[in-house]
Amino acid sequence: PALDSAAMSFNIDVNSPNVRYTDTHIESEYEYQTSSVHKEGNRVTVTPRTTKMTFRTTRRVPKLGVMLVGWGGNNGTTVTAAVLANKLGLTWRTKMGMKKANYFGSLLQASTVCLGSGPEGEVNVPLRDILPMVHPNDIVFDGWDISSMDLGSAMERAQVFDWSLQEQLRPHMSGLKPRPSIYFPDFIAANQEDRADNMEQIRADIRDFRESSGVDKVIVLWTANTERFCDIIPGVNDTAKNLLAAIKTGAAVSPSTLFAVASILEGCAYINGSPQNTFVPGAIELAVQKGVFIGGDDFKSGQTKIKSVLVDFLVSSGIKPKSIVSYNHLGNNDGKNLSAPEQFRSKEISKSNVVDDMVQSNPILYLPGEKPDHCVVIKYVPYVADSKRAMDEYTSEIMMGGTNTIALHNTCEDSLLASPIILDLVILTELCERIAVRPQGEEDFQSFHSVLALLSFLCKAPLVPSGTPVINAFFRQRASIINIMRACLGLPPQNHMLLEHKLQ
Ligand code: NAD
Repeated sequence: PALDSAAMSFNIDVNSPNVRYTDTHIESEYEYQTSSVHKEGNRVTVTPRTTKMTFRTTRRVPKLGVMLVGWGGNNGTTVTAAVLANKLGLTWRTKMGMKKANYFGSLLQASTVCLGSGPEGEVNVPLRDILPMVHPNDIVFDGWDISSMDLGSAMERAQVFDWSLQEQLRPHMSGLKPRPSIYFPDFIAANQEDRADNMEQIRADIRDFRESSGVDKVIVLWTANTERFCDIIPGVNDTAKNLLAAIKTGAAVSPSTLFAVASILEGCAYINGSPQNTFVPGAIELAVQKGVFIGGDDFKSGQTKIKSVLVDFLVSSGIKPKSIVSYNHLGNNDGKNLSAPEQFRSKEISKSNVVDDMVQSNPILYLPGEKPDHCVVIKYVPYVADSKRAMDEYTSEIMMGGTNTIALHNTCEDSLLASPIILDLVILTELCERIAVRPQGEEDFQSFHSVLALLSFLCKAPLVPSGTPVINAFFRQRASIINIMRACLGLPPQNHMLLEHKLQ
């Protein structure tokens, strides 16, 4: 029988004196339990701490508009078409049989969390049902591209969907046209006056979209090509003030940073799905000043996602990875762009730090500063198009000098991995805009820090507030999302102790 994920929808009510449902909010009184640890040589003192706080979640889900930079690219067309196909309930025949539109690969839409157990056994519900959230089918898309090709033709160019599905989608897609975007072949050397106009144009586009589509809220997400890294230049992009002045006078600012600044000034959250350092210190400071969320960097879709599981598994089993070698070849336009050295360098940097937190967590295996050898290679092979190949070799030291080698070969349509992540990023960001927290004793509710670290699960090189830990380990990242959602409902973190089954 065909799975009908839309039918798997739950209404969750929490039966607790600590949770209050009003017409407008869900409010929970929560005890946040942490430990303060003091380490002196080999002596460690742990002091448990409990902080009381109130979580308040606005219940009304707004109509969400998402503007994609790079709308006509493989990800842009694929995510737009996938949402349309789901909304229209499309089915299509392939040589493997009938297929039905779904959201597999989305943490929020297609994965579940165990709420606990009762007479019916364990009850697992989709994450999307835990709190009121935007449904992807209701998102309105718009965006920009440096190519004016309509989305129907761009979908065909992307070579991601089966032809019979494209035929059904085409009439809906071909009316969609990206807005013109900014293109600086080398943004450092770009024409200066244009740049100030560009930013005003982006801001006008966001306002135009908001008004003409009737959406309540807009989020802007970069899924355009990877830019090269930009230099952090004192006086240009080091502070919010300098960055705004630099844009006005036409100094060197990358297109992606221009989009970020325009978006922040319009009060719209901005997410970076590519590896480049869009969020220069001035852009981060501006987001904090304006209280707007920013998140990134670089979708964590394939090889890095596996790495954040596999290295976590190895290191937490007490096995010592000594070398991690990752090859990729792909034939889409992203692959072509990444075959240029400076753009590859952005990706290489983004992929490089992913094992750091896991390695540093185990001083039995690694001396301070010691890391496994880690090498990433990306090659452009046009024939394989969007069907990216990733080959990985993990060599680890096991007991008594033994060696364990794991080799993986992964073949997958790249854009079908990235699209559900795009949806999770915007839906989670929108949800975070409706969550406020008040620590006990304080008068006002506050929102999360503008640098939205909760998006780390979805990003290869997580952007976190300065001075806070970067977590790459997959299950820690996932637990963070789930446990914060549970806190909004006054539920304790998942502890997996299952004591009810372990006692006599
Ligand atoms: P793509 O080349 O198919 O699409 C990018 C689109 O961006 C193109 O249509 C291009 O014309 C447009 N573009 C380039 N510069 C622009 C600008 N300044 N303004 C507006 N549009 C611009 O690439 P893709 O496969 O869709 O990937 C998009 C990005 O996502 C890449 O940077 C890639 O590295 C990143 N990414 C993808 C994945 C994945 O799994 N697909 C994972 C992580 C990161």
